[in-house]
Amino acid sequence: MDKETLQKCLHAGKIAAQVRREGALKLAKPGTSFRDVMDFCEKRIVELYGEVAWAQMGLNDVAAHFCPEEDDQQVSKEGDVIKIDIGVHLDGWIADNAMTVEVGSSKKYKDLIKASQNALKAAIKLVRPGCPLWELGEAQHSEAEALGFTTVRNLSGHTIEQYKVHGGVSIPTFNNKDKTELQAGWQIAIEPFVTDGQGMIREKGKATVFMVEKEKGIRSPYARKVFDFVKPRQGLPFHLRQLSRQFGKGPAALGLRELQQSGIVKAYAPLAEISQGIVAQFEHSMIVQDKPVVYTRHKDDEW
Ligand code: MN
Ligand code: MN
Repeated sequence: MDKETLQKCLHAGKIAAQVRREGALKLAKPGTSFRDVMDFCEKRIVELYGEVAWAQMGLNDVAAHFCPEEDDQQVSKEGDVIKIDIGVHLDGWIADNAMTVEVGSSKKYKDLIKASQNALKAAIKLVRPGCPLWELGEAQHSEAEALGFTTVRNLSGHTIEQYKVHGGVSIPTFNNKDKTELQAGWQIAIEPFVTDGQGMIREKGKATVFMVEKEKGIRSPYARKVFDFVKPRQGLPFHLRQLSRQFGKGPAALGLRELQQSGIVKAYAPLAEISQGIVAQFEHSMIVQDKPVVYTRHKDDEW
């Protein structure tokens, strides 16, 4: 990675960490509107001179891929376990990070949250060129088990490339026997999802998060409008709320449906734990070298 790219990663990471913490602090107060916090995060990223890659969240058994719609009325409630996942980019160089809060003064899920932090810390300690991926997975899983939990086996961390959230290599959250070795200079995100459930997720409910898969012929004017609006994202995710605000709820849904049907846009439905287990997630982005450069760490992060 050249110096200029590294600077972009470091800068994006600083913004991502700051906005993640500010958003988490808001969500941790009972009665906070999910939609307002996600709006705040997007605005805050731009205020800090970053570009929005995404601002997403997950409530309780939902691990990932949720972004409130314009008319979403949900607010945080005492005892809720909320994940906030913030992506910031500069020129496509992405910082991906997440944390979990338990709302209010409830401490019921303190250990679950701790287990995910421990898992992330333990995996980061192992990061160096040549480290096989299964080792990172095993470290995460054993930290989860040490506190009586398990990791979500069908969710994983990932390599990151310019404008690509998932660079093609998955970083497992358990020992999946993958002998692939980390390479110097790889940009990776490690994200142990830890649960008190069975440790598997599946899609649940309506998709609010989308990405462009490929560009091809578009028939209806609604679909064309939506496509032209999301194209500048260069493959980064977008969400329903943005489209509803731009085009109105009906036209947005119509355009989006055609884009999905023709395979241009892929929908990402919320991912929920299959046994309705509560899920905690912590995530950092880093560059692999003998001592990894963890570039999404905030000074107040204890993980
Ligand atoms: Mn993330
Ligand atoms: Mn990630």
